[in-house]
Amino acid sequence: MLPHVLIIGGGFGGLSAARTLRNAAVRVTLVDRRNHHVFQPLLYQVATATLSPADIAAPIRWILRRTRNVRVLLGEAERIDVAERRVVLTDGAALDYDWLIVATGSRHAYFGHSEWEEHAPGLKTLEDAVAIRRRILMAFERAEREKDPVRQRELLTFVLVGGGPTGVELAGTLAEIARQTLRDEFRSIDPAVARIVLVEAGPTILPTFPGRLRDAARESLRRLGVEVCEGRVVTEVDARGVVAGAQHLDARTVLWAAGVAASPLARTLGVPLDAAGRVMVEPDLSIPGHPEVFVVGDTAAFLHQGGKPLPGVAQPAIQAGRHAARTIQRRLRGHASEPFVYRDLGSMAIVGRRAAVSDLGWARFTGVAAWLAWLFLHIVMLIGFRNRVVVLFEWAVAYLTFQRGARLITNDPPASSPQRKAQSPSEVKNS
Ligand SMILES: Cc1cc2nc3c(=O)[nH]c(=O)nc-3n(C[C@H](O)[C@H](O)[C@H](O)COP(=O)(O)OP(=O)(O)OC[C@H]3O[C@@H](n4cnc5c(N)ncnc54)[C@H](O)[C@@H]3O)c2cc1C
Repeated sequence: MLPHVLIIGGGFGGLSAARTLRNAAVRVTLVDRRNHHVFQPLLYQVATATLSPADIAAPIRWILRRTRNVRVLLGEAERIDVAERRVVLTDGAALDYDWLIVATGSRHAYFGHSEWEEHAPGLKTLEDAVAIRRRILMAFERAEREKDPVRQRELLTFVLVGGGPTGVELAGTLAEIARQTLRDEFRSIDPAVARIVLVEAGPTILPTFPGRLRDAARESLRRLGVEVCEGRVVTEVDARGVVAGAQHLDARTVLWAAGVAASPLARTLGVPLDAAGRVMVEPDLSIPGHPEVFVVGDTAAFLHQGGKPLPGVAQPAIQAGRHAARTIQRRLRGHASEPFVYRDLGSMAIVGRRAAVSDLGWARFTGVAAWLAWLFLHIVMLIGFRNRVVVLFEWAVAYLTFQRGARLITNDPPASSPQRKAQSPSEVKNS
């Protein structure tokens, strides 16, 4: 019987591992709690109504259809029993393995304030993106019906917590929606007066980018009318807004793009974790004491130059997934494993129309050139020919007409939910 490699997670890391094992003499099982892979870098475009959920996702089974030695299973891993070499799923089923690759990603973290999540949703899944899209579009709809100018102002104030690429991208796109897309469509409000505030606790937005690119991004946001508040720690979030650096920002829509924590499955491995719950992996990405178990991507803390962990972005996950798969092949051939060496291919963030920043290490650029590079790279990385064509088409239409192809308010929360109840009684009374 061929050795069995079990991969948990069909994100960037898990898929990369499965593809690398394509021609290996192993049986592979990839288990994911969702039937689809999500291209997370474009989630914000679903949240801001440019793209539809299906445009940035693809069924994992379909992606791996030609990888004959891989079996795909739908199921959620609950715990890992490293002593028994077994993974137990939430439905009670168990999967045995000879080699294990854990690639279950991360989730949002609210720095110990889980009660903030209800008021400031984060963006990680397609469901999150559709729920955020609903919140944003509903805010404009409710403002149109609101007679009280103070409440109207609160409804037209959007606060984004976290000045990393996701916060910057959301802020820039929201500004474009308010100033361009919704122009001429409302009668009681002028969407262009919407206030968009980007709050960052650290001294600067885009902290991992060089100073010149940060300045360019800040300037692009300013031109779009986004207020950038740096060095302001958020200490309170509730239904009326946030307290940031001792100032209360009255806002009915607060979006969270600040902290992340590793998938909770990591805890069940029983090995040391860092403060963000990530597994402190060995140089070859295996876990201490278990050379047959590897952790890759956002769930792992791999320390590289300067002792800093690799950033939680797609490239480290892809490269680590490939390395773990190659290490398994090496070890099956009787060779020792080799340390993982990360190749930094750079980073990019888009701010808005023809505005982006791009740091490729050997070249740094801003403006239209960075914007085109961002568009090209994201189309190339997107999985599936259909998705590439549809996304290109949607971008072209959005660019030429300022229109967003997916401006639908769907998925009403149940009547009993706090979100539905929060729909202001005064707007109903007044309308
Ligand atoms: C909004 C947003 C924007 C981003 N933008 C960028 C960007 O522009 N550039 C960039 O490089 N990176 C970006 N990232 C980060 C990048 O997407 C992640 O670093 C990358 O997805 C990590 O890959 P991964 O394989 O570790 O985890 P993921 O890709 O998150 O995959 C984890 C998989 O595991 C599955 N899973 C989780 N728990 C279980 C379980 N218990 N049982 C079974 N399956 C499970 C999930 O369903 C998922 O399919 C962004 C992330 C977000 C959220």
